[in-house]
Amino acid sequence: MARATIPTQGEMHESILQSMREMRAGDADWKNGRTWSLVYYAGEAHHDLLQRAHNLFFAENALNPMAFKSLKRMEAEVVQMTASMLHAPDDACGTMTTGGTESLLMAVKAARDRAKARGPKTDRPNVVAAITAHPALDKAGHYFGLEIRKAPVGPDKRVIVSAMKKLIDKNTVLLFASAPQYPHGVIDPIDEVGRLALARGIPLHVDACIGGFVLPWVERLGYPIPAFDFRVPGVTSMSADLHKYGFAVKGASVVVYRDMSYLEHQFFLETEFPGGIYASPSMTGTRGGGPIAAAWASLHAVGESGFIEHTRLAMEAAKKLQEGIRTIPELAVIGPPDATLVAWGAKDRAVDVYAVADRLEDAGWSADRQQHPATIHHTVTSNHLPVIDEYIADLRDAVAYVRSHPEVADRGNAAMYGMMAKVPFRGMVRQGVMNVMRNMYGPNALDFDPAKLNGEGVVDKVMNAVGPTLNKVLDRVEALKERFR
Ligand SMILES: *Cc1c(COP(=O)(O)O)cnc(C)c1O
Repeated sequence: MARATIPTQGEMHESILQSMREMRAGDADWKNGRTWSLVYYAGEAHHDLLQRAHNLFFAENALNPMAFKSLKRMEAEVVQMTASMLHAPDDACGTMTTGGTESLLMAVKAARDRAKARGPKTDRPNVVAAITAHPALDKAGHYFGLEIRKAPVGPDKRVIVSAMKKLIDKNTVLLFASAPQYPHGVIDPIDEVGRLALARGIPLHVDACIGGFVLPWVERLGYPIPAFDFRVPGVTSMSADLHKYGFAVKGASVVVYRDMSYLEHQFFLETEFPGGIYASPSMTGTRGGGPIAAAWASLHAVGESGFIEHTRLAMEAAKKLQEGIRTIPELAVIGPPDATLVAWGAKDRAVDVYAVADRLEDAGWSADRQQHPATIHHTVTSNHLPVIDEYIADLRDAVAYVRSHPEVADRGNAAMYGMMAKVPFRGMVRQGVMNVMRNMYGPNALDFDPAKLNGEGVVDKVMNAVGPTLNKVLDRVEALKERFR
């Protein structure tokens, strides 16, 4: 494919919009509940409001809050509304960011710089977390030069706090726990981690990126939810994504700190720039006004009663999904009963999970594949309630098909994902994924065909050579590993 260039003459607006509409044809069908992540849809009226609120402020720039006092005010109100929801003390403060990743990057950076400012200098600060912590934490460690130490989780998938304790040393600048962690929807024992944090005098970040705008309402609905927010004394910061269960426009999250003595270490100041004194609260310089305005509008439009109603429907859908999965004897629900995140895996390896996922995709569902162990993930929202029956029917068919055609596990995507999850040589997996990235973002990016993902790397070649046999051996290894995990 030839390289794209800017057209010599500007094009007609209507035809530009028309080509974009055509480009969407192959995209995921989120509006009808076919995706289990990526888009949080609170219905057409809300969607329409978000577009209008976003458009009102799409040109404004929160880089200079003096120029756009409206944005400054909306950001402060969004942060305060979030802090109140999470029972933060009156001194709490924070900023909006572009998403969960930036919120976590900022929490880690603030903890690093706070430790640097307070204590004996350390060259290699570390953060102690669980293996189920979101990779944005690893990204923070990677970008900012911190070691991320990972404690194992118990059979209930909650972090083992005594293992966290063993990983702490004088260079530990932050403890990190999730409410809930993404893979299985499990809330770490925040209370216990909080006590550890207080005992050792180390800050604790609770990653409520996905849970922040749903757990408070799950609790209000009367479900038994363990303490997860600022009511736990050791918690010093929290992240909550507006663009997830806050039903805002993408590019919106909040990071809240117990008080300014934490937040001040997030800021970046440069006083000698010839272009003027420069002060920025977070990673990005220019900050779009759209996501801030849409987040403000979203919280005002949904309101507590709306959040409670969306959560009630999401919980109903999640429970219905869990019940449906339980009627399929080959499958097991992973994770707690009272959560909007639901994962299923194969009971006693009765079927190949990734092969079932391929069949679901053929039936028009997107499937979020997880590993260690192989499971499929669902972020359930109110929008999914009408499609659960249909999904369960397709899931039942997919399982029956894979059961009677076990050889499909050694083909196509199932083989690739299986291999990627199971192969003990993780360097090889890295290399395979890196090849995909090179193709996806390289000069021939336009030739990249996601449907041919399986043809891109080392994994496929190995699979062709020794595929099915190796797959079986790796299965045994994985089963043994799980038994001893
Ligand atoms: C989504 C998520 C993140 C990262 O958020 P992004 O908005 O994708 O950057 C971090 N932690 C958890 C638990 C999440 O679910």
